[in-house]
Amino acid sequence: MTTALLTHPDTLLHVMDGQHPESPARITAILDALAQEKISSHKSPNTLLASLQRHIAPEASDEQLLRVHSAAYVQKIRELAPRAGLVRLDPDTAMGPMSLSACLHASGAAVLATDLVMQGKASNAFCCVRPPGHHAGKSRAAGFCIFNHIAVGVAHALAAHGLKRVAILDFDVHHGDGSEDIFKNDERVMLCSTFQHPHYPHRGADSRTERMINVPLAAGTGSEGFRAAVQTEIAPALERFKPQMLFISAGFDAHAQDPLAQLKLQNEDYAWVTSFAMQVAERHAGKRIVSLLEGGYHLPALGQAATSHVRTLAGL
Ligand SMILES: [Zn+2]
Repeated sequence: MTTALLTHPDTLLHVMDGQHPESPARITAILDALAQEKISSHKSPNTLLASLQRHIAPEASDEQLLRVHSAAYVQKIRELAPRAGLVRLDPDTAMGPMSLSACLHASGAAVLATDLVMQGKASNAFCCVRPPGHHAGKSRAAGFCIFNHIAVGVAHALAAHGLKRVAILDFDVHHGDGSEDIFKNDERVMLCSTFQHPHYPHRGADSRTERMINVPLAAGTGSEGFRAAVQTEIAPALERFKPQMLFISAGFDAHAQDPLAQLKLQNEDYAWVTSFAMQVAERHAGKRIVSLLEGGYHLPALGQAATSHVRTLAGL
């Protein structure tokens, strides 16, 4: 079995403004880096990209979205979607003519990835989609996010596949406050989120519970501090919870070169944290992992860090 890679062409057509760091070039940077990554193989294909099981993401249905978002919010987003120009949803987040389609396919990627992994058609999956989703709450857009794709995937694993315990590991540099908003009262879901604090979205540091494992990190924290936090705060929580499936909110903006934050992770840390997740999934979750792109705004660093992540998922 292989690692699945899910994306959709419309994910390149959600454009906010020319200078916005959350740009279509992020997807291209990752796909180009995966295409350039050589793997040692005597038979073709011999690049990481060519070794992956490729899928075009379908649109998420209203039934799938409404498991995590309010009907009024989904209706509002459908009505606000412009035919031309931009509609602003918050100071950082806007919709253009193709944004709704990009969002629906990004959430649909999480659903299909969940099905592929649950049905044993792929060993694990990476959704290379945008915009990101983990700041989107039940009824609000925020921080570049409109629909919470990872939450849609988690809810699908619970509702359609009957799982009883699912965990999200969110190593984006920003707290996954939308995912917390959606799942804080759901006994079936654990969220483990490392994030720079104080920093946007200025939430999470005081809301830790037995299942909302919020781990704030000071600006300047590097490999050693990050790995220690994962091992001392997150590993025991996951061992206690024993998730039947693991989702990863894979933001790469904690990288040392990222312009939007001040943590100091290196490419090797993304391989390390991915290995950590795979060991947890092997012990408790039948190796089932679905990972989905969140942030990451330094294009070369994003491409390299995502490549480290996917290469590790693929066991190469
Ligand atoms: Zn982020």
